[in-house]
Amino acid sequence: MSKTHSDPQVSFLCDQNLGRLARWLRIMGFDTEYMRTWDEDAIERARTSGRIFLTRRRDFASDRQSIVLKSDFLKDQLSYLDNHLKLSEKLHPHSRCSICNAPLKYVKAQDVKNLIPEYVSTTRGTFARCPHCLRIYWKGTHTVKMVETMNRIFKTRVGS
Ligand SMILES: [Zn+2]
Repeated sequence: MSKTHSDPQVSFLCDQNLGRLARWLRIMGFDTEYMRTWDEDAIERARTSGRIFLTRRRDFASDRQSIVLKSDFLKDQLSYLDNHLKLSEKLHPHSRCSICNAPLKYVKAQDVKNLIPEYVSTTRGTFARCPHCLRIYWKGTHTVKMVETMNRIFKTRVGS
């Protein structure tokens, strides 16, 4: 199997212990659902829709559609997933809402002018809005820091 084109649409379900990881996977652009409590139905839905189930529970170690994360640390979890799934080759940073997982829609400054600080609306050209929770995203110092963090984790260059 080709390592770059085998599964460009990789998607996840994170268990209740992996909330931080779920947020980061979304920031990196991966379709990631999160279950706040243990939910057999959600796991079953993930199975039928081809999502990879990420869990801390070792009894899933022999399940082919699950990945058991042994570390509690976000950085180790992401490195582990990168080793197994080549995440760093499939990043689409800032394309998805980190809170509710919906794909972001790009909007012009004038469309969100009243919803963001004035200095932001005058210095940035494009904004992304979550169609679900209506949160507005723009590139700024916080996104630069996120990309730096991703670079450190994956030790590869990530486009901003
Ligand atoms: Zn949202």
